[in-house]
Amino acid sequence: MVDLKGQYEKIKNQVNESVLDVLDSTAYINGPQVKAFEKELAEYLDVKHVIPCANGTDALQISMMGLGLKPGDEVITADFTFAATVEVIALLQLTPVLVDVDPATFNIDIAAIEKAITPKTKAIVPVHLFGHVANMDAIIDLAKKHELYVIEDNAQAIGANYTFENGSQQKAGVIGNVGATSFFPSKNLGCYGDGGAIFTNDDDLAHTIRGIVNHGMYKRYHHDVVGVNSRLDSVQAAVLRAKLPHLDRYNAARRDAARKYTAHFSTAKNIVTPSTETNKKCDNSKGICDTCDCHVFHQYTLRVTNGKRDALAERLQSEGIPHGIYYPIPLHQQKAYSDERYVDADFKVTNQLSDEVISLPMHTELDDEQINHIAKIVLEVVEA
Ligand SMILES: *Cc1c(COP(=O)(O)O)cnc(C)c1O
Repeated sequence: MVDLKGQYEKIKNQVNESVLDVLDSTAYINGPQVKAFEKELAEYLDVKHVIPCANGTDALQISMMGLGLKPGDEVITADFTFAATVEVIALLQLTPVLVDVDPATFNIDIAAIEKAITPKTKAIVPVHLFGHVANMDAIIDLAKKHELYVIEDNAQAIGANYTFENGSQQKAGVIGNVGATSFFPSKNLGCYGDGGAIFTNDDDLAHTIRGIVNHGMYKRYHHDVVGVNSRLDSVQAAVLRAKLPHLDRYNAARRDAARKYTAHFSTAKNIVTPSTETNKKCDNSKGICDTCDCHVFHQYTLRVTNGKRDALAERLQSEGIPHGIYYPIPLHQQKAYSDERYVDADFKVTNQLSDEVISLPMHTELDDEQINHIAKIVLEVVEA
């Protein structure tokens, strides 16, 4: 699905040099590389505070702890996402409220959020799924109206640019009260191990979170709140510093590959290609919106609408072409997150997507020959 080796080869000298510097320095935890990365990422995202941590799941959990959410508080998120999003809500004994998604964008459905809001609702967690920013105009409006926090799960969309309906722009992850991301190796900005970060423009929240990631300490050995131990290693920060200057180019390469895939499937009757539309600012007429960069294609995910998804997966497997089914089981149907409040009829879209979606190889090193070959096989199976 990803070509980490090919990408590494091109930046090898840079990465090796900065990693060796860390080894020489012996500042393995919270060294100068971590501080420098924090600053560089904050500049890139145009956000006041970046707080690195150990992984994306921690980033989400710590964001919720920082906001002071309490057991029983309801947190609304999408049924169609990676389990980490709902896992941390449940771990903190908050009440997850899963809602359906939009069939065109795979992102959280605005009407479904509105319907799920109760007096106990405290936060909305939009997930910018597959690299596509959720409709933040509508989400921010709802949050303001009902006084809710917005926690962006930006694990899949780092570098995406959201254009508001009034024309202003912000990077994904820094639009809500707080944003969380992951630097897992296969993410759009990946390190060579685990890593994550939290973003916020709120000075008080940033201060609270900096304590939480470090055992609740604001002064050495004074533990004011119950915290966790969640750090980004200096070695990982060194890798990320070498890669951050390439992020825009990496995302452009992904968008380019997506544009080519979509062109191959433009006349297919049984394939729905990913929509890149988030709001009326987007121009999706040429397959991929180029008026903004609201989709950075962490995944390129098709819907196969004639029941041949599994046949396609088998054929790709036999051809040695990697593929993924994200996500095969809706969260509301998972044993750990099932709840008698959920009725299947409220999750029509997620249920359908679980049967129809398939993600094709998507990374920064895809060439035309690979894309043509993959597209040919997809069309052979699905359009036959
Ligand atoms: C990857 C991912 C996470 C978790 O990140 P980790 O670094 O693996 O803990 C959370 N949410 C989404 C949507 C993800 O894709």
